[in-house]
Amino acid sequence: MLLLQPACAVWHHRSMLTGTCHCGAIEVHAEDTPDEATVCNCSICRRYAATWLHCTQATVTIIAQPDALDTYCWGDEMINFHRCARCGCLTHYTCTEKAGIDRVSVNLNIVPPEQTTGIRRRRFDGADTWQFLDD
Ligand SMILES: [Zn+2]
Repeated sequence: MLLLQPACAVWHHRSMLTGTCHCGAIEVHAEDTPDEATVCNCSICRRYAATWLHCTQATVTIIAQPDALDTYCWGDEMINFHRCARCGCLTHYTCTEKAGIDRVSVNLNIVPPEQTTGIRRRRFDGADTWQFLDD
């Protein structure tokens, strides 16, 4: 994942999802994205009501205004949840070094609907069985 200031941003990819928080202080760009997203019912995801598009660090770029990123890390400290300090929208999560996973998950709900057609939303039972509920 790249974290850039706006002046540094240059885009070369045409097939890219672009989402923003409500006020626009955080932009998230993802390329070569999967065609499935996850709606999880674990204790934090159900509260956030997020839809996660699991990407890798190399395919996601975050552009954040100075001081726009607030982060929440809890429990086993494997995941940092990032939200806008101004408007409160949850934009993405990153995995900590402790997690050892190359993952940046974008909250698909910050991406305009016209960009997300064809992406299947799957319900995941993160609260209990860790299985998809729609198989
Ligand atoms: Zn915002």
